[in-house]
Order: sequence, then structure tokens, then C-alpha cells
Amino acid sequence: IIEATHVSKWYGSFRALTDVNLTVRKGERIVICGPSGSGKSTLIRCFNRLEANQEGEIRVNGMLLHNKMRNVTEVRKNVGMVFQHFNLFPHMTVLMNCMAGPMWIKGVPEAQAKQTALKYLERVRIPEQANKYPVQLSGGQQQRVAIARSLCMEPAVMLFDEPTSALDPEMVSEVLETMTSLARDGMTMVCVTHEMGFARAVADRIIFMDKGRIVEEANPNDFFTNPHHERTRLFLSQIL
Ligand code: ATP
Ligand code: MG
Repeated sequence: IIEATHVSKWYGSFRALTDVNLTVRKGERIVICGPSGSGKSTLIRCFNRLEANQEGEIRVNGMLLHNKMRNVTEVRKNVGMVFQHFNLFPHMTVLMNCMAGPMWIKGVPEAQAKQTALKYLERVRIPEQANKYPVQLSGGQQQRVAIARSLCMEPAVMLFDEPTSALDPEMVSEVLETMTSLARDGMTMVCVTHEMGFARAVADRIIFMDKGRIVEEANPNDFFTNPHHERTRLFLSQIL
């Protein structure tokens, strides 16, 4: 579903990604971890064209992402993204947050958008919050709305950028449970997270990045018990 080959990216003269190669197949669950500033967010933001890579190629569902693209929305329809800080529309109810994308971007009729929104709010187990505004919800509930909102677009792949790191500790588990249940349903997911319990339980592959490069790529068992690179070992010793 995602195919990145020899991807490099610079912010001005600063090189944020160096020769990144990564393939994400349908139904795969990938966890990306690594120290702050290692390029994790930059990489997944390239996958839905929130950032542009200068070198290499990224294909999403066979579609080559490139500079002269007219319809970035085509990419965004296929690639859902959940951010650290929820990024809900504050002036809209939970229900409208979930209906807006399908109606305005995909042209889905209102009644159908509502039905889909309620289905996914049910899916993240907060249908009763549909008519509230984001400020009236807890952080964990807001993040579950953000997940439901992305699901309403019925994307081929979901990207998560540290979805639990802005949450109070007691709310982390409800969001991880939601993500785990999506994974169980076969959703293709790329998750930037330092929740290693989640990574161990859910990931097919764990990617470790450092200084804009993929340093290590392994299944969870190998990653935790037998990391090959010194940098990975150091990182694990700091967070586990
Ligand atoms: P964190 O764990 O802190 O979220 P990260 O691995 O997600 O880190 P990125 O946000 O991808 O790291 O950033 C990689 C590098 O690129 C960092 O050194 C950062 O300062 C730099 N960078 C990120 N965004 C920009 C930008 N818009 N302009 C300039 N430099 C940027
Ligand atoms: Mg980041």
C-alpha cells in the first residue's frame, strides 16, 4: 500500500531523511520508534503529502506522489492520519467532525455521512458523545473521535503520530485499546509510538530510526531480545 524507495528530505540545508526505504503491505502493522528529531514524523507526513520529499519515490496505492500533483486530496482520501494533539475542529460537534470529510471531500450525501459517522463513533465506543463539542470531552475521548473521524474516510492505511503522548496516563490505555482493536480487524497501520507494550503486542515489524535513517527493522521478538545495532540497544535501555 505504501512503497517508499530512496527517500530523502531536507528542510533548507538540514537533512531530515536519508535514503529511507520502506514497504507497507496491506494489513501490515508497522511501529516506528526512535529518538526525538530522528525524522519519524517527517517520514509519515511524507506518506500523505503533508511534507514533500526531494529525492526518491513514494507510492500510495500505486499512486506516485510528486510535486506537480493536482489532487493531494486523492492521497488524503487513501491515507488517514491521527496526530498527537487530536486536531479536531473545535467549532463543530463530534458528529460533524466525523461527517465533514466524507461530505466535503468525497461528496457523500449528508444522511449517509451521518450513518457512517455513527458507525465509527460506535466503533471507538463513544456514540453517546456525538452531539458534544471537542472541549467537552476528555483527551482520550477526543483522540478516539480523531480516530473515528479518520475511519469515516475509509482510508486504505492509517498513520498515527504519537497518538497517546499528549494524554494523561489514565487515558493512554483506552486509545491503545482502540488502536489494538483496529489492528485486530486487519487495518493497515503505521504507528509512530513509544508505547512498547503496544508495539510488542501488535506490530508485524518495528522500525527504529536515528538521524533520518532507518537503522533497524525487525519483528518485535528480535527487536526487543536481539537488537543488532548499538544505537537501538541504547534507545531501548533508555525507554524500557
Ligand atoms: P519527535 O520524537 O520529537 O516527534 P521526530 O522523530 O518526529 O521527533 P521530526 O519531527 O521528523 O522528528 O524532525 C526531524 C528533524 O527535522 C528534526 O531535527 C527537526 O528539528 C527537523 N524539522 C522538522 N520539521 C521541520 C520544519 N518544518 N522545518 C525545519 N526543520 C524541521
Ligand atoms: Mg514527531
